[in-house]
Parts: sequence; structure tokens; C-alpha cells
Amino acid sequence: MNHQPFETWIIDDLPLDKQQQTELEEHLRDCQSCKTLQLSWETAKHKIKSAPVKQPSPGFSMRWQASLKERREAEARSQSRTLFIWIGSLVAVSIITFGVIALPELSFISMVISFVTTLITVTTSVESIVALVESVANSLSPTARILAGIGLSTVISVFTFVWGITVWRMSRKGVKQYEED
Ligand SMILES: [Zn+2]
Repeated sequence: MNHQPFETWIIDDLPLDKQQQTELEEHLRDCQSCKTLQLSWETAKHKIKSAPVKQPSPGFSMRWQASLKERREAEARSQSRTLFIWIGSLVAVSIITFGVIALPELSFISMVISFVTTLITVTTSVESIVALVESVANSLSPTARILAGIGLSTVISVFTFVWGITVWRMSRKGVKQYEED
């Protein structure tokens, strides 16, 4: 059975003339396929028309975007702070460990000098690293940021610790040489 032009007539919302209307009615009497099509098309149209369309209030999208940006910035700031505290604590622990190991070998003054020097060096490098991390972190997902932060601070503290040990060994060597002389 040929379903054209009836399928087109059913789907198109164009008005039919009297002859077309009669032809369509006759075809629909005989053709279950086109009858089903007409019925489902009418149902679909009715559903589309009666579906409540919720329009967002004017400015909603803009406000939402703005608050999202604010939330992201606040989140980034809080994560940077956490990262800074985390790095700071690990570095402090490394310095204290280094201090405790080195303490019997070094005088109080050289201890203080090396502590201050270490602190300034570390603070300066941590500051520049944090600035770099912040710019990188802003383009990462929260989980990636935390993982990167933990990874980076671990590397920094290991590096600080190894560096501390090296300085301590060098200073011990110096003390020994001084004692031998
Ligand atoms: Zn048909």
C-alpha cells in the first residue's frame, strides 16, 4: 500500500483542501499504519503543547554564572591556603628534624644562622612555588589539585630534608677538619 502523500499530510500542519481531506479519511479507514501514525502524532503534539515550559527568571543565568565564579574563586583560595599550610608544616618538620640531628654538632649561633637562612630560602622558594602552583591549580579539577599539592609538598620536604642532611654533613666535615687542625 502506498502511504504517500498521506504520511506527509498527517505530519505537516498545512491545511488540506476538501478533496485531500476526503482522500486522507478514506485512506485512514483502510490503513492501520497511517491511522497509528496519525494517532501518535496527535498525542505527541498534544504532549508538546501541554508540557509546562519553565522559563528561568530574567538575569537568573547571569546571577548563577556570577555566583559560580565566586564559589570557584573562594574554593581556589581555600585550597591554596590549605596547600600553603601543608607545605609549611612539612617544611617546618623537616627543618626541626634537621635541627635536632645537627644540634650536637653545631653551636647555637651557627644553628640560628643556618635556621634563618634555611627559613628565608625555603619561604622564598615556597612563595614562588605556591604562586606557580596556584596558576596551575586553577586549571585542574579539585581532586587533581589536592593530589598535586600532596605530591609537590612531599617532594619539597624530601628535598629540604636531603639538603639539610648535606649541609649538616658538610658542616660536620668542617668541624672535624677544624678539630684536626
Ligand atoms: Zn497508509
